[in-house]
Amino acid sequence: MTTLVGVDLGGTNIRAAVATGTRSHAQPAHAPTPGDEGPEAVVAAIAKCVSEATGGVQPDGVAIGIPGPLDPVRGIVYAAPHLRGWESFDAASALQERIGCRIAVHNDANLAGYAEWIAGAGRGTTDFLFLTASTGIGGALILDGQLYAGRSGTAGEVGHVPLAPEYPPCGQGHQGCLEGTASGTGIARSARRAVQGGEATSLSRLPLDHIDGRSVEEAARAGDEVALRVFTDAGRHLGRAIGGLINLFSPEVIAVGGGLINAGELLFAPLRGGVGEIAFAVPAENCRIVQAELGTDAGLVGASAWAVKNFGQPS
Ligand SMILES: [Zn+2]
Repeated sequence: MTTLVGVDLGGTNIRAAVATGTRSHAQPAHAPTPGDEGPEAVVAAIAKCVSEATGGVQPDGVAIGIPGPLDPVRGIVYAAPHLRGWESFDAASALQERIGCRIAVHNDANLAGYAEWIAGAGRGTTDFLFLTASTGIGGALILDGQLYAGRSGTAGEVGHVPLAPEYPPCGQGHQGCLEGTASGTGIARSARRAVQGGEATSLSRLPLDHIDGRSVEEAARAGDEVALRVFTDAGRHLGRAIGGLINLFSPEVIAVGGGLINAGELLFAPLRGGVGEIAFAVPAENCRIVQAELGTDAGLVGASAWAVKNFGQPS
């Protein structure tokens, strides 16, 4: 018997599930993330959730997706903005000690992209890029049939490519990066700025701090011109960034996931236009841009699949 477990560690919830094949997992166990209580409390909560997922059976290997930049080779988390005290934290060693088995760690967006590659929108491809656009923008690069992590382990941060210096900063303080404008947070900020500037929009009926990506999407659907402009601008910039990625990597498929894709053509129509502004014709014609398929399950599918890749087939 080989028992392998995938864990999706989020800022608010932990989910753990036993791998049942290369791309499938059993019913997950859940627990809240005690993110304010420091690394030890979170590690203990993960161990408990893993034990619940296996029904108390000692696992042979656990792979875990963590929301922050990290080194998957050494198992060190550089920082995790939603988890207090996770700076230069040796997550692999701490989890190995607590759970008592081999541990593989990776960035959550990288594992979500890995899941889309082996079980979702990127199935059957050799070169595949994944973008997830919600509160922030993350991503993953599958190059030549491998999840590409780069020298430091942090590659795939497609949300932090430059737009232009006059654009607003992202949460990490990069002036004018893609995430600062085209994420849900960036969209909400652009809409608030329009309201504060006295522009005529239905969003001015909402308290400023209630304007979020979702409310801007709803206003745009109802035909609000300011909301439409904000969404069109975000979609265009996403598309221009994707066009740049097509020029760099010439992938077969680029999948876009995350909450923003609920906006459908409000986002994808300007996105496709933006791609056309930047991408060379031949690699653009050879690249399909599609919606991601796995939704919020991608993190857990990716983590359990990563456990199988690192520690062998479950039995
Ligand atoms: Zn940034």
